[in-house]
Amino acid sequence: MSDDSKSNLKKRIVKICKKLHKKNMLAAADGNISYRISDEEIWITPSGVMKAFMEPEDMACINIKGDILHGIPSSEMAMHLQVYKSSQEARAVIHAHPPYAIAWTISHPNLKELPIGAMSELILACGEVPIVPFALPGTKEMGDNLLPFLPKNKVMILARHGALCWGRDLSEAHRGIERLEHSAQILTLAHSLGGVTLLDEPKLLALKNIRQEIVKKMGDIVL
Ligand SMILES: [Zn+2]
Repeated sequence: MSDDSKSNLKKRIVKICKKLHKKNMLAAADGNISYRISDEEIWITPSGVMKAFMEPEDMACINIKGDILHGIPSSEMAMHLQVYKSSQEARAVIHAHPPYAIAWTISHPNLKELPIGAMSELILACGEVPIVPFALPGTKEMGDNLLPFLPKNKVMILARHGALCWGRDLSEAHRGIERLEHSAQILTLAHSLGGVTLLDEPKLLALKNIRQEIVKKMGDIVL
């Protein structure tokens, strides 16, 4: 990748950080974004920097083994590395702290996935949204807990912590996290207004079939 392309990539990552911060998904120094240029270079947002004020030159660089090549990478890099190890297709990973998605895991501790049968959006966009069990911050367990869900799931909620989305490019990962939080917000409103109801079985089946057709044509994409 040329120096120009690297510089543009860092600027795009900064732009996404600012957008996520505006949408209340990155308080203070929360969250991290990474992009794999090659096995030798994974660019990742730095540790302890407020994403609202981050500059392109703050980005750190690691390799697939987790060796630090430049800067001070996020302490949550184990999750990013696990995604890249699970799929050659993975180029971008976004981890943020979307409040509505997290609130579902706090209020419903036994929930294994978001109740996506309530509406069509998430079924069509990504098929399902599993909830990954809680792990202590900064531990290897954060990455290990993702294993049962990779590479199948590109959109995941991390119990009592946040969400993690990945994709073939930055915009796919960004779409995943926006779609997830928007849907979690709708479900929260429905819950507060009296309860979440689900579509009937024939409609759910029809939606799952449409999703399968999308995957056949476009691969396992997040819309
Ligand atoms: Zn986090």
